[in-house]
Amino acid sequence: MAKYLVIGNWKMNGNLSRSEQLVEDILAQLPVLPTLEVAVCPPFTYLAPVAKRLRDTAVKLGAQNLCEHSAGAYTGEVAGPMLADFGTRFVLVGHSERRSLYGESSELVAAKVETALECVLTPVLCVGETLEEREAGKAEAVISSQLQPVLARIGSSAMKRVVIAYEPVWAIGTGKTASPQQAQDIHAFIRTSLQQADAWSDDHSRLLYGGSVKADNAAELFGQADIHGALVGGASLKAEDFVAICHAAG
Ligand code: PEP
Repeated sequence: MAKYLVIGNWKMNGNLSRSEQLVEDILAQLPVLPTLEVAVCPPFTYLAPVAKRLRDTAVKLGAQNLCEHSAGAYTGEVAGPMLADFGTRFVLVGHSERRSLYGESSELVAAKVETALECVLTPVLCVGETLEEREAGKAEAVISSQLQPVLARIGSSAMKRVVIAYEPVWAIGTGKTASPQQAQDIHAFIRTSLQQADAWSDDHSRLLYGGSVKADNAAELFGQADIHGALVGGASLKAEDFVAICHAAG
């Protein structure tokens, strides 16, 4: 089985000195855990200084987004090869904030996943339903509709190289975590769907849970059979909280 993976998504928070301090504190407090991979996703402008500090450490670099094109006249965008230049290993794609605030469709998300793979970045494909969709009994249908365009675009073999983060929209930044059973049920659904499409590898595929993960709920979530790590927002901005979550997985 692949190592557990915990990724911190700093979103659009902090400044240069706070980013440098945060990475310093994480490195000081995080022991190397043999069964765990850890990454942080700073804002684009702090990738370079964070990358410099992470060099030769066990913590990997991630980005929060990328352009679906690899170069050209796309003002304000950041291309996959540019991220790769800094030693970026992971890139979040299709975060619910990108989908809801910036209108990213599942087709655009699929194009971004493809570009990330071409740039040898590991895409972390975020999927998840809103509260309204859950209450209407549509959670699985929504997740299928987010996975399907990606599968159709990149194919089942490449899908095995994609990390998938199940992030129920109603649990992101709200303090409401999905119960371990609710998360496990959706993770099992995703795994089964991918297995049926021959897009799952027991050795490489990983399903992360995201949505108000904290030090005090992480261990129970990681105890579920199909939860292989976490995508952490708010709690990744405090080194001790983030490191405690990593410990729960390690
Ligand atoms: C996220 O934005 O990916 C996330 C999971 O945020 P939070 O942990 O703050 O809910």
